[in-house]
Amino acid sequence: MRLVDLHVHTTASDGLYSPAQLVGEALKRGLAAVAITDHDTMKGLQELDSTTANCSLEIVPGIEFSTFYQKKEIHLLGYYCDPENLQLQETLSKNHRDRHLRMEKMVNKLKEMDVFVELDEVLTTVKGGVIGRPHLAAVLCQKGYCSTVEEAFNSYIGYNRPAYVERAPFSPGEAIAVIKEAGGFPVLAHPGLGNDDTYIPSLVHAGIKGLEVYHPEHDAASITKYLRLAREYDLVVTGGSDFHGEHSGPSLHIGTVTVDYSSLEAIKKSLRLQGKGANDLNIVKKGF
Ligand code: AMP
Ligand code: ZN
Ligand code: FE
Ligand code: FE
Repeated sequence: MRLVDLHVHTTASDGLYSPAQLVGEALKRGLAAVAITDHDTMKGLQELDSTTANCSLEIVPGIEFSTFYQKKEIHLLGYYCDPENLQLQETLSKNHRDRHLRMEKMVNKLKEMDVFVELDEVLTTVKGGVIGRPHLAAVLCQKGYCSTVEEAFNSYIGYNRPAYVERAPFSPGEAIAVIKEAGGFPVLAHPGLGNDDTYIPSLVHAGIKGLEVYHPEHDAASITKYLRLAREYDLVVTGGSDFHGEHSGPSLHIGTVTVDYSSLEAIKKSLRLQGKGANDLNIVKKGF
């Protein structure tokens, strides 16, 4: 079996490992391919141009969008988007501005609770990547306001917790449209995290082509359910570890959750049928 992990985060967003480190880890574990799916950025792929030129691991360009539908958070993965697509770039700039503004608001809310974290302290941990709540959680731990990332989410910044601030409205339909516009392959990420599958038919209608059936948060029953739904709606079955770093859980690492290479082949086949060239599908392009 040639195994692929189609969902990992790097330091370009809120992961702990740099893209090059992740490639090393993936090679150690004998993976055939890994998809880099950072939140709201494809910059992680840029760093890999030289490091992976002659390496046996296939790198799949990806991105993950957080969207909101009736107050529910729905994540969408996009594979093989063209990072130079203007509409994609505009969406990413807008999302970056929103993330920054939201972090400012969360820091202010924390201050009102006598939890003193400066925006600059959070920005230092971001190191040029895309800012997210895990960065804030790390600073809260560093400063002794909590002892684990999980605790930071449960006490302060998780959904509906006192310092939680919503992101600007961005619908699943908008994310799917921008992925398609950029020539990418849209996949619904970890549907099992939401406890609600009623919106899946409308996402199929909006253009998702794959379903992330295998994910660390999916138990055997959800896997069976989502395999059935993928068959029903003719969606490519995908999966991955959603690895962010050891803090995601001690037993989780890149490659802990994988799918067979045939899933990746099905994605590529579908894109080829839409006219995407072999070069776009087999190598990380220069200039990301
Ligand atoms: P953001 O993009 O800023 O909304 O942050 C979302 C990220 O925070 C997710 O991708 C997870 O990595 C992380 N996250 C969300 N909820 C939790 C939680 N309860 N415990 C730990 N990490 C979480
Ligand atoms: Zn994340
Ligand atoms: Fe996600
Ligand atoms: Fe993710």
